[in-house]
Amino acid sequence: MNWHTSTSDAVFKELQSNSDGLPADEVAKRIQQYGPNQLQEKKKRPVWLLFAMQFKDVMILILMVAAIVSGIAGDLKDAIVILIIIIINAIVGFVQEFRAEKAIDALKQLSAAMVRVRRNKGVTQIPAVELVPGDVVLLEAGDMVGADLRILEAHALKIEEASLTGESQAVDKSSQPLADNDAPLGDRTNMAYKSTLVTAGNGTGVVVATGMETEIGKIAGMLQEKEPTTPLQQRLADFSKKLSFVVLAICLVLYGIGMLRGQDPLTMLLTTISLAVAAIPEALPAVITIALALGAKKLVRKNALIRKLPAVETLGSVTYICTDKTGTLTQNQMTVQEIWQPGQFDLAIPGISKEQALLLAMSLNHDSQEDHTDNNKRKGDPTEVALVEYAFQQKGYDNKWQQAYPREQELPFDSDRKMMTTVHTINDQFLVITKGALESILKICNTADQQPITEQSNKLAETGQRVIAYSCKLIKQLPKETDQKTLESEQYFCGLAGMIDPPRPEARQAIAACRTAGIVPVLITGDHPATASAIARDMGILQSKDDRTVTGAELAKFSDEDLDNNITHIKVYARVSPQQKLRIVKALQKKDQFVAMTGDGVNDAPALKRANIGVAMGITGTDVSKEAADMILLDDNFATIVKAVEEGRRIYDNIRKFIRYVLACNFAEILTIFMAPVVGLPIPLLPIHILWINLVTDSLPGLALAGEKADTKIMQRPPRNPGEGIFAQGLGFYTIWVGVLMATVTLIMQAWAIHIGDAHWQTMVFTVLCFSQMAQALVSRSEYEFIYRMGIFTNRPLIGAIALTSLLQIAIIYLPFLNKIFNTAPLTLTELGFCVLVSAITFHAVELEKFIKRRSVKA
Ligand code: ATP
Repeated sequence: MNWHTSTSDAVFKELQSNSDGLPADEVAKRIQQYGPNQLQEKKKRPVWLLFAMQFKDVMILILMVAAIVSGIAGDLKDAIVILIIIIINAIVGFVQEFRAEKAIDALKQLSAAMVRVRRNKGVTQIPAVELVPGDVVLLEAGDMVGADLRILEAHALKIEEASLTGESQAVDKSSQPLADNDAPLGDRTNMAYKSTLVTAGNGTGVVVATGMETEIGKIAGMLQEKEPTTPLQQRLADFSKKLSFVVLAICLVLYGIGMLRGQDPLTMLLTTISLAVAAIPEALPAVITIALALGAKKLVRKNALIRKLPAVETLGSVTYICTDKTGTLTQNQMTVQEIWQPGQFDLAIPGISKEQALLLAMSLNHDSQEDHTDNNKRKGDPTEVALVEYAFQQKGYDNKWQQAYPREQELPFDSDRKMMTTVHTINDQFLVITKGALESILKICNTADQQPITEQSNKLAETGQRVIAYSCKLIKQLPKETDQKTLESEQYFCGLAGMIDPPRPEARQAIAACRTAGIVPVLITGDHPATASAIARDMGILQSKDDRTVTGAELAKFSDEDLDNNITHIKVYARVSPQQKLRIVKALQKKDQFVAMTGDGVNDAPALKRANIGVAMGITGTDVSKEAADMILLDDNFATIVKAVEEGRRIYDNIRKFIRYVLACNFAEILTIFMAPVVGLPIPLLPIHILWINLVTDSLPGLALAGEKADTKIMQRPPRNPGEGIFAQGLGFYTIWVGVLMATVTLIMQAWAIHIGDAHWQTMVFTVLCFSQMAQALVSRSEYEFIYRMGIFTNRPLIGAIALTSLLQIAIIYLPFLNKIFNTAPLTLTELGFCVLVSAITFHAVELEKFIKRRSVKA
């Protein structure tokens, strides 16, 4: 059937539905018949493939081939052990990646879209995947369309269909059938398509196609998203690649030296390849994904839902948080405090006294509904609910009004106009009521003397109240299409309502926390400058003499240069339009600031996209804003952003700790093995020793570091420069000196043991290298804090990992069958004690470095 050329009755007939929606039993039947309303995702990698991918590294493959060749040629036992170690390595990698993938999936599920439908004669909210053909869907500015719809009702409805047609201009929609059978999608103005965005107005539509049958489903092949890599991951991947060449060159030289010294070519081959496998940190980018995904999972528990994984990494760099007011800093629990009516009101509304005019306006012009399923509680925007409920309780209010003056037309509220209008039948005329920001209302009123009104409004606003103004007029004829110009003009001013919205208690602390963390909080609101300033002062956003409040009108007059000169002093932007938010973000970014910006409305999307961290509201936010955001606040709370920043800093810190630890260990390994023949010592380790050390050091202790708690001073230092490289802040220097230290200690011990004729020298070298790395893992828990001050046992997983690794090492030294496999020998107690002492050198050296660093910071 051609939906767009059919009348709505014909569409309903075909779909066997009606304007009340489908009954529950019919919905259940149709879900069976049509399946869930979702686009088929790219086939997930099967589990076995995920496992197989662990072997895709070229060096691992070469090592396996070499092991097999050497097995066939001679030492079968060695070959088997090498293969087992590689497989264990792969299992560890697989388990980690699997967990990360699950964490990412869980996040995706959480951000699934919801839609409002009429079912069982009531309106309910359901996940968009549960839509079936025949469902009647309610649309509102900010929604994402859940399925393909034939539009039944449209009030100033505009839909942006760029995802489907590429056209970024929103299309005006109507309910009228069209004539052209072959109209292209973009011209089918009475249809709404899945995944397009409602940018203005409201309306209803009936579902005509779901899932892969929708227009977007038909082209879904193109829609497969790839997880983006983070800046740090990219840098690490580049670095790993470069490092691989260096390591390979070193291995080649090592092989040459071995040959010259007459070593067995096959053993030398295995040794050098094992070393390459151990020293190239090819797993680092993957480990970062895991750390980020697990971090994102943790953030959900703190009410911050991450939509784009790189955001976890970059959160810690935020220098500005630009926030909304209502609901974010305040509780969004509006209560009308007082109302005010002007002395003069010249419009005679039939049957209504002058005193009642404002109450009539307040009780009729609203966008809230009683919820019959919830004790008739009023639901909707708290501003709306507060105004209506206040009117209902006043003496002059008459509860017959609701029935007597039914609503005919509506111009919904939007943040650009800052007002909304409803039209009601009143006898043989029509009453037009508009409410909104005072400046907007005064523009459409014919009141001559506006001064007393403005004065009154300022008085209310200065106490932090949100002020809503009302005006109305009578018209004889209803305009054909809901026409803004005809309706919102020539009105009579009715009065003001002032309401309070108490601040969130935790927001004040969060703002203070921002300051110590070097983050500037800025308030951007559509509200009146006096209201905004009063609240900003109360919350601690406006503090010093230089802090300024600027209105949208003033901002519009600023040249780019003016803005650049003033931007660091402006802490409050009032009466701004959402478009201006984009300008603010850009201006801050020009000053090299890293901006987190909140938003909830349709028009906030460009600013959210542009901001370094776009933050959408989970409760009051529109689908459009959520689509554009990097992070969604599930509780709409400002304090949650600050918690997320703290968590972002912690995760980044821990990733850095992990990188420091792994690079220093790898460097030590390669240096030890390379330098030994250079200084005339035998090659200290066998291939299986190298692989074993690599396995135990990189896996468990590394992951335990990622779980390290936040440094106590984490929010007392300035934000990290997002452009800084991997080796910034001394990481490169650390890698070199710690690597050199571990290698030197090991080599000296090797030389000494050989010198005194200790036959166990190889087992001792093996043990020292393994224990030194454990010591380094322990000491890497903090870059500045001493471990004994942090408490040795405060990171239990790490202690567990170290204990397990040490036990395994002891087993390798003392269990006879492991002696055979690993070519080790039982050490005497003195030898073992000596190994522990030597390994502790690394621990104490790094603690000493912290001491020196702390002294130089203080000086
Ligand atoms: P905040 O920062 O407080 O969340 P905002 O930027 O979201 O504010 P808007 O919701 O766009 O601000 O509101 C801007 C102005 O429009 C308000 O100050 C108020 O005067 C008016 N207003 C808000 N809600 C409504 C409404 N439902 N109907 C009419 N006018 C409204």
